Amino acid sequence: MANYAVIGAGWAGCSAAVELSKRGHRVQLFETARTLGGRARQLISHGMMLDNGQHILLGAYRSTLELLTTTGIDPKTALLRLPLQMCYPPESGGMHFVAPRLPAPLHLALALWNATGLNRADKLALARFSSTARWMDWQLNTDCTVAELLARFDQTDNLIRLMWQPLCVAALNTPVSTASAQVFLSVLKDSLGAHRAASDMLIPRYDLSSLLPLAAANYIEQGGGQVYPGCAIHKLQYKRQWQLHTGQDTYTADGVIIATPARTAAALLAPLSSQHGIPEFSYKAITTCYLKYPAGTTLARPFYALQERPEHAAFGQFVFDRGQLNPQQAGLLAVVISAPAITQDHTTLAQALAAQLAADLHKPALAHPEWSQTITEKRATFACTPGLHRPQQKLTLPELEGCTSLALAGDYTASPYPATLEAAVQSGIAAAKAVLQTP
Ligand SMILES: Cc1cc2nc3c(=O)[nH]c(=O)nc-3n(C[C@H](O)[C@H](O)[C@H](O)COP(=O)(O)OP(=O)(O)OC[C@H]3O[C@@H](n4cnc5c(N)ncnc54)[C@H](O)[C@@H]3O)c2cc1C
Repeated sequence: MANYAVIGAGWAGCSAAVELSKRGHRVQLFETARTLGGRARQLISHGMMLDNGQHILLGAYRSTLELLTTTGIDPKTALLRLPLQMCYPPESGGMHFVAPRLPAPLHLALALWNATGLNRADKLALARFSSTARWMDWQLNTDCTVAELLARFDQTDNLIRLMWQPLCVAALNTPVSTASAQVFLSVLKDSLGAHRAASDMLIPRYDLSSLLPLAAANYIEQGGGQVYPGCAIHKLQYKRQWQLHTGQDTYTADGVIIATPARTAAALLAPLSSQHGIPEFSYKAITTCYLKYPAGTTLARPFYALQERPEHAAFGQFVFDRGQLNPQQAGLLAVVISAPAITQDHTTLAQALAAQLAADLHKPALAHPEWSQTITEKRATFACTPGLHRPQQKLTLPELEGCTSLALAGDYTASPYPATLEAAVQSGIAAAKAVLQTP
């Protein structure tokens, strides 16, 4: 039984650590923060367990769902499963598109047939997009921006505004004008192009740390491993064995997986090699604004897309009714703003978003929440632009000739997906296999 160290207990690090533990190895998992989970973690506000940001998964996230099951979490109870949909509050106009529970591609055909808010030209454009992309097997010869792809596929302005723009920003956290069309197509392959269950949307009922990282920590400790929250690794050295320095203590390991954000990984590797190959990424923010109302306040659906309107001082893109996910959160709405930089202070922003909900849902009381909590993750995801270089998980540093016991994990590493939980989880599994040298 070998001894491996994983640096960083985000979803990538937890995935790597569980994979190593599952294969019978002893794992030490180090995490700077006191709370496990990285960019998908719990936090407490106003006595309530919230998340640092509202997350949504797809039925196609096979590795993530398998990992939950391995760590003892039942995806059926932990996640609310909804059919593929894009619905705006009926009071605000916009579209209503819900895929019925039928085999693919019937689910898509019927969703299109029944969709409201789209005219005949919009529906034909969407059907054309889907069939052409299928014919291309969702692959481009040369990557371009999503805006260029939509123009090439003759998509209508209405469809771009109501469907493609919100979908692209939600999935890639990058606007259509600069987002990678190839990565967008890879995501669509799993929704528009996949079998029905893969296109389902899954919303966590548990807080994000309880959903995976805490269960993963438990799994690792039961396998004889150790989890060290509040323990940052500042320096790595290789002298036939790995040495990990915290500033106070030194730990040893036969192999190391660096599952920190890209910049920290580059800083840890820089003294070991000038050729680590981790590029400098640019990042996009995501803001989640929680608005708490009396317990009886609820939406007609678990979540809605929201329309951009020039008269709004701020523009929330999606609103989630957390009370429909967890009864302890009755009356709590979460409004999400992806990609654009927020200029207002948090109080002004929360007031503007509450006013937007009141107007869009025709419920004046929503303008006056009991309290609000706004969280901005400034480096939520890398900007997912065309032709981006993402490093492989397997690391071979020329300066450490023959050393194969080092790998990278993280949502920024090589993946067909954008920065998502699934990209992070898959990277963790790939990194574990790389240090173990198994296919
Ligand atoms: C607000 C928000 C909303 C999102 N929405 C979605 C969504 O709806 N669906 C989806 O799939 N994805 C979503 N994402 C993206 C998803 O959360 C990330 O892709 C994923 O969590 C990244 O995991 P990771 O393990 O690669 O990185 P991280 O979560 O960044 O983990 C890296 C960890 O390393 C730790 N660390 C750093 N330095 C050290 C060190 N020196 N020593 C020890 N530990 C260290 C950090 O503290 C951190 O815990 C969202 C992200 C945000 C922020």
